[in-house]
Amino acid sequence: MRLPCPHCGERDLREFTYKGADLPLPEGPDWGPDWEAYLHLRRNPAGETRDLWYHGPCGSWLSVTRNTATHAVAESRPAREPGS
Ligand SMILES: [Zn+2]
Repeated sequence: MRLPCPHCGERDLREFTYKGADLPLPEGPDWGPDWEAYLHLRRNPAGETRDLWYHGPCGSWLSVTRNTATHAVAESRPAREPGS
């Protein structure tokens, strides 16, 4: 499998590290069901997902939208800054 890096172009998967689902942070700093779900509950769809990947050679965090059934990548962009 190959992934596109917005800075380096299409590269081999071995250059990337999977860092988990790219989900919006829950509102508020207090612990509650929303934070528990954010940290511990994950869907595992056979279809489109958006995940965080780290590209080691350029040191970039990426948000990649891909289809887990076909491995087709719909989008690869720099990950958002925390809090944005
Ligand atoms: Zn890169």
